[in-house]
Amino acid sequence: MTKPVRLVIFGRQGAGKGTQCVKLVEHYGAVHISTGDMLRAAVEEGTEFGRKANEFMSAGQLVPDEVIIGVVRDRLAQEDVRAKGFLLDGFPRTEPQAQALAATIGEDGFDLAVNIEVPLDVVKDRIAGRNRGDDAPEAVERRLADYEAKTVPAVRWFSGIGKLVEVDGVGAEDEVFDRVRTVIDTHL
Ligand code: AMP
Repeated sequence: MTKPVRLVIFGRQGAGKGTQCVKLVEHYGAVHISTGDMLRAAVEEGTEFGRKANEFMSAGQLVPDEVIIGVVRDRLAQEDVRAKGFLLDGFPRTEPQAQALAATIGEDGFDLAVNIEVPLDVVKDRIAGRNRGDDAPEAVERRLADYEAKTVPAVRWFSGIGKLVEVDGVGAEDEVFDRVRTVIDTHL
């Protein structure tokens, strides 16, 4: 077995981040930590936490930083993550979340952040084409605007500490995966 990888993945809605995460987890054997999946599971379970989170999620808003930071901190402390490494998907979503991550595991506690870059006009076409139930036009617009306003500063934060790589996310899924894998293997 190779050394566990510890990765952060960025990509705006419609960039194909979900698909690439599935492939990456399979390839590197890391634990997939998707904050969106964790929140949806809490909503399904109908916990008080899930009900609160759903108020933000259904409006296409981010849940408050202090809420999600605690959830991720607990997850990162678990044994499987320590043993197998991790792929953080959907976190950090804001600069304070990026700083909280560094405060939790240290700037050397992860290897690399990968940004899957797909231009806004392309993701808008993709989202319009798939027309899913949770893709209400206002929520989509809100998420895309939030990404620019709040998540791009988090992406820049990783760039500032020299741990960001950009990957062109336009193309077939396998092609994009080859690009992602190549940049990761080159930087590790
Ligand atoms: P996702 O599946 O990553 O798009 O997440 C679905 C929804 O969960 C988002 O639209 C947010 O409302 C919420 N969410 C997921 N991750 C975060 C995060 N790191 N910070 C705040 N809200 C989040």
